[in-house]
Amino acid sequence: MRYIEPHAHMVSRVTDDYRAMTVSGCAAVCEPAFWAGFDRGSAAGFHDYFCQLTDHEPRRAAKFGLPHYCWLCINPKESEDLTLAREVVELIPEFLKKPTVLGIGEIGLNRNSRNEVKVLEMQVDLAARHDQLILVHTPHLEDKLKGTRLILDVLRADRRIQPGRCIIDHVEEHTVGMVLEAGFWAGMTLYPETKCTSARAVDIVERYGADRLWMNSACDWGVSVPLAVPYAALEMRRRGHSPEEMDRLIYGNPMRFLSQCPKFRPPDSPS
Ligand SMILES: [Zn+2]
Repeated sequence: MRYIEPHAHMVSRVTDDYRAMTVSGCAAVCEPAFWAGFDRGSAAGFHDYFCQLTDHEPRRAAKFGLPHYCWLCINPKESEDLTLAREVVELIPEFLKKPTVLGIGEIGLNRNSRNEVKVLEMQVDLAARHDQLILVHTPHLEDKLKGTRLILDVLRADRRIQPGRCIIDHVEEHTVGMVLEAGFWAGMTLYPETKCTSARAVDIVERYGADRLWMNSACDWGVSVPLAVPYAALEMRRRGHSPEEMDRLIYGNPMRFLSQCPKFRPPDSPS
């Protein structure tokens, strides 16, 4: 089995997780910028985090021969303070020159507040100006449907944004349809308690097809499973999906989306 982990917060994980992922067939890992579990007090805190994502973490992954890529942004949970958000957004263009930065993410909404929407628009503009891919976090539970609608409205309102270059993550049964119908990619997050279980994710694939879908573990400092993607592939196998269908979903699809950024090198290709 081979797979790409398109969404993992490896700064929160131990080195043993890198080893387990690599021996399970992980060919590349991508890390969106997100909340640290606490609110950072200054733009300098984000500067250090961006250095960690673009410098330290790729070196830690390289010890296992695992290519590490990242996405940069200020996340929605820390987007209430507009002054801080502007300062952080100003830091990002310099980091976009780094060889492992794939785009802007995970931007989006958390509580669907007015300031969160302003910061989302600010970062969609940043992505458009710098011709970057976009990775979007959608809110949890009861806020998800409304938040996903608001996010799609913001993306569609900016005519420079191509839906095929945006992935809307953490979709569930009630949001995946609207995301795919609007031409965007959709990500399913495999969590043991919330978001999608393996069985629910494979149900979604069987219902909607695997054309613009990927699966990720979104493993972080909370309850999460770094090997959730290969575990979901086992669920596909149990249901009789062919090895080619599994490979397409867990390797081919992330490869196809991420390769829209020329910095993402297919793991099989010589560098
Ligand atoms: Zn995440």
